[in-house]
Amino acid sequence: MKYANARRAFLELSRQVPRSEFMDLATLGHNGDRYKFFRIDIKPKRKLVKLCLAGTVHGDEIAGQKGLLRWLSTPEIINDEAFYRLYPIVNPVGFQFWKRNNMKGVDLNRSFFAEKAPTEVKAIQNDLKYQWFDAFISFHENWAEENEDLYIFYHPNRESKKLGRHIVKSMKGFAIVDKRKNIDCWKADNGLIEADDDGSFEYFMGEKKAHASLCVEVPARLSVKRRAMIVEKIIENAKDYFY
Ligand SMILES: [Zn+2]
Repeated sequence: MKYANARRAFLELSRQVPRSEFMDLATLGHNGDRYKFFRIDIKPKRKLVKLCLAGTVHGDEIAGQKGLLRWLSTPEIINDEAFYRLYPIVNPVGFQFWKRNNMKGVDLNRSFFAEKAPTEVKAIQNDLKYQWFDAFISFHENWAEENEDLYIFYHPNRESKKLGRHIVKSMKGFAIVDKRKNIDCWKADNGLIEADDDGSFEYFMGEKKAHASLCVEVPARLSVKRRAMIVEKIIENAKDYFY
């Protein structure tokens, strides 16, 4: 099973990472199968910064999952002065079946302010109850068909815009940033787009749980390996921003 294998890979990798904690938060049922929804915490030796990272909110966008796996597989690059909370596969059933939405056809990235939130969203929100982060980054993918380059949605506040700018700058020579003024009908400036209140994970975090909150659109036209490398690089650069 694709999802079970991915979850196991994260479980095994996290065991190699010092001071990490793998935790199942909920079980999702679909067609008689069970999908355990998990997260990983990596605790610091000395806490200077708190980062929360999420991937594969849309089940067919694998950059986040692959990138977090890649990042975890090189524990020497994980900073021991940062607390990390990871939600590598926010949409397990969507991931299993290569679908954007969850098993009920709900777009999780429009459900973070819903009155009756989906199980995945509820599990995250409960898990975040007493948490506050310096930054949150969710990794998505844009359209391969449109040949788009990297761009970032930032929460409409100063800290998010600043972090977004830092990441765009630090991508130089590593990934091409989308320089169009208009991206999918959004007003864009040097790869940065101010996000709307759309019920997304990133909007929720920017409003309630993090100083800075971003949604990174990784170019889907690139190879999976390259996409994973971009995610890994952004995690590194986001941490460097705080030092
Ligand atoms: Zn997406």
